[in-house]
Amino acid sequence: TQAYLDAIEAGHGLNAYVLGTPEIALERAAVSDQRIAKGEAGALEGLPLGVKDLFCTEGVRTTACSKILDGFTPPYESAVTERMRAAGAVMLGKLNNDEFAMGSSNESSCFGTPVNPWRKAGSDAALVAGGSSGGSAAAVAARLCLGATATDTGGSIRQPAAFTGTVGIKPTYGRCSRWGIVAFASSLDQAGPIARDVRDAAILLGAMSGHDPRDSTSVEREVPDFEAAVGRSVKGLKIGLPKEYRVDGMPGEIEALWEQGAAWLRAAGAEVVEVSLPHTKYALPAYYIVAPAEASSNLARYDGVRYGLRVPGRDIVEMYEKTRAAGFGDEVRRRIMIGTYVLSAGYYDAYYVRAQKVRTLIKRDFETVFADGVDAILTPATPSAAFGIGENANASPVEMYLNDVFTVTVNMAGLPGVAVPAGKSADGLPLALQLIGRPFDEETLFSTAAVIE
Ligand code: GLN
Repeated sequence: TQAYLDAIEAGHGLNAYVLGTPEIALERAAVSDQRIAKGEAGALEGLPLGVKDLFCTEGVRTTACSKILDGFTPPYESAVTERMRAAGAVMLGKLNNDEFAMGSSNESSCFGTPVNPWRKAGSDAALVAGGSSGGSAAAVAARLCLGATATDTGGSIRQPAAFTGTVGIKPTYGRCSRWGIVAFASSLDQAGPIARDVRDAAILLGAMSGHDPRDSTSVEREVPDFEAAVGRSVKGLKIGLPKEYRVDGMPGEIEALWEQGAAWLRAAGAEVVEVSLPHTKYALPAYYIVAPAEASSNLARYDGVRYGLRVPGRDIVEMYEKTRAAGFGDEVRRRIMIGTYVLSAGYYDAYYVRAQKVRTLIKRDFETVFADGVDAILTPATPSAAFGIGENANASPVEMYLNDVFTVTVNMAGLPGVAVPAGKSADGLPLALQLIGRPFDEETLFSTAAVIE
């Protein structure tokens, strides 16, 4: 723990942590020493980990990297971090993320953008670590923690993992409790780990998972021994390559990486087949209706009365307005406006209801493929390697949303998905593949991802 605290001090320039909790860490590490000495070690005993600032931590400032939660110290602990703590985890601090987890580059955080420890060959330019869990990914990649918690609504675990050469898994919707996690889009949000390799990710996910009566969408289901799935043979598994993911303009190196991944799985005894997910092209537009709709509802609670920031006004309405105007950043406001628009009486059927129907079709696409005996689906994780900080400053928000083209379908269908490092771009940056599994079959993802890493 002390070595990691020293590394965090030294790695300050990466802006991965928005709050260090060294006293808590050292106290917790001392408890771990005692538990280990008594032979009572939990699954994560003494492991120094980082926590995304979207997870409420009892007595420790939690802001979702938004000014509107300035000064908010939750009196409760999220279910996931509570489980991890019970398993012996040592929290080193809170990690940077996009404001309310909205983004793909972590550039919307009120604490500034975390820096990817990777550089393009021959260049010093700072790159994004992805988003929204950019702090988690940067910290794991730079060894500023052994592993980290993250959340994924449309790719926020998998895309930052892909950009930093780490492993990130979004489990099946319902596998982890959302209780005590700052809500973005509740029907899509899931917690999961970012780790240095597949085995670490399996161990962490095991400790994070499990039923929790405080989240009605958390599922009562046994948590398998995920670690045991790492190294298990993939012989005879059927792996699908969806033809619709060969999107226009896909860089040659991403296409080559995808073929390489398929070849590795084939060499390990899996059968690789082409499959079709015909509604893929509607996933991104439908996601950018459903997610903002839920966000606009979830973010209604930040009114200056109950949490964090309050900017006084002449009356309560003016106080609401001033607080929300000062507290929310541009991307969050954009989502609230889109969300309220698509939910408004005149447009609800045309946008929100239509997007929900599209969501059902996307889910059915996957069900059909899995019913045909496919065990997992292999795709690229992202359409590119990490880009420069500020590089997309003049791009339209819609161009930024294209980052999620391979990941949002998985959230729309509630399926598990893992991003696993699979190679390097021509200029030396990490590139990743994604494996998508049947509901609650994270084990197959760990087995197949271990073949690729
Ligand atoms: N980049 C996507 C978005 O901005 C996904 C974010 C996430 O998964 N939290 O909505």
